[in-house]
Amino acid sequence: MTKYWKVDQGLGCETFEPIIEAAMLLRRGETVAFPTETVYGLGADATNTAAVERIFLAKGRPSDNPLIVHIADIEQLSGLIEPASVTSDHRKLMEFFWPGPLTLVLPVKTGGISSLVTAGLTTVGVRIPDHPVALQLLREAKLPIAAPSANSSGRPSPTLASHVREDLDGRIGGIVDGGATGVGVESTVIQLVDGQLYILRPGGVTAEQLQSALPGIQIHEPEREEILDSETPRAPGMKYAHYAPKGFMHIVHGDDTEAVVAWIQSDINAAKARGESTGILTFEERAFRYDADLVIACGSLSQPETIAQELYAALRQFDQEGIHYIAAEGCPETGIGLAIMNRLRKAAGHRLVRV
Ligand code: AMP
Ligand code: MG
Repeated sequence: MTKYWKVDQGLGCETFEPIIEAAMLLRRGETVAFPTETVYGLGADATNTAAVERIFLAKGRPSDNPLIVHIADIEQLSGLIEPASVTSDHRKLMEFFWPGPLTLVLPVKTGGISSLVTAGLTTVGVRIPDHPVALQLLREAKLPIAAPSANSSGRPSPTLASHVREDLDGRIGGIVDGGATGVGVESTVIQLVDGQLYILRPGGVTAEQLQSALPGIQIHEPEREEILDSETPRAPGMKYAHYAPKGFMHIVHGDDTEAVVAWIQSDINAAKARGESTGILTFEERAFRYDADLVIACGSLSQPETIAQELYAALRQFDQEGIHYIAAEGCPETGIGLAIMNRLRKAAGHRLVRV
């Protein structure tokens, strides 16, 4: 049985009991899902191999995909990583962005945490989350907590406790429900190598924000993988998809809005004519222009943070309504748009149409 606690983000005294109980479960080696400012995490004691194993089992996560370790304060860092590897640039990033959605990859300290957490790598990703419930839970647990997103592997990450229940109820020790998360996409994962900054995964902290924290540094963004739709047969499983809805999805991208709208509508009309249930993922500015079985206005292009906040719930909604064929509009890849497009590309199995 999965325990369930509803708590108030304001952390009134009624929150105290549930967090202590949840922390006790973590200390006993159980898994507990909890809200962070990015998405819900599925936590376990990072120093306990049996506990970390439960995360991989519950999620069905491949064991070669390392986990991010969450800590409550900088002092906990010395138990996890090689202190000598922390440079002044690392320190600046910690001062600027912690607590917050930035994960730093650093050399792991031998004997500090379970080697399952790092998937056998010599490095570990670590961050301090910026969420009152997460921080209180970490303080009470008094442990470094390994926590990937609290979804079944491959599905969209959870931004509500109900998403966690949908995927993991009965498979984990407990769920702390603190309401909707904030940013909506995961943390930015970075590594500093030879004085240069590599974004391993774009996320809540933007490349622009990183550059302003370290003005002199060279920043490398991850490659943008693309399969042009025209080149590929519609072969499910041809490419490993992540964050994916169950239906077929592709992204339609271009500078000419009229051309994009026209292409999507005729594509959807053709799918409808084939008898498919159809969906369109678009933005508030344009939703009224489309006709499909389900049109989702996912945030506003004028406030891209709102797109990030609503993205995963939107992807899950297509599943809930049994939509088989989805066309998703792309957004500009600046600021948080880089993370949004990174997730959309994966959700769409890298299928992209340029018009
Ligand atoms: P999730 O926890 O599901 O948001 O996924 C964690 C992400 O962080 C994955 O993309 C991992 O590949 C990445 N990550 C975690 N630890 C490391 C590490 N030591 N080196 C590189 N990437 C990492
Ligand atoms: Mg994940």
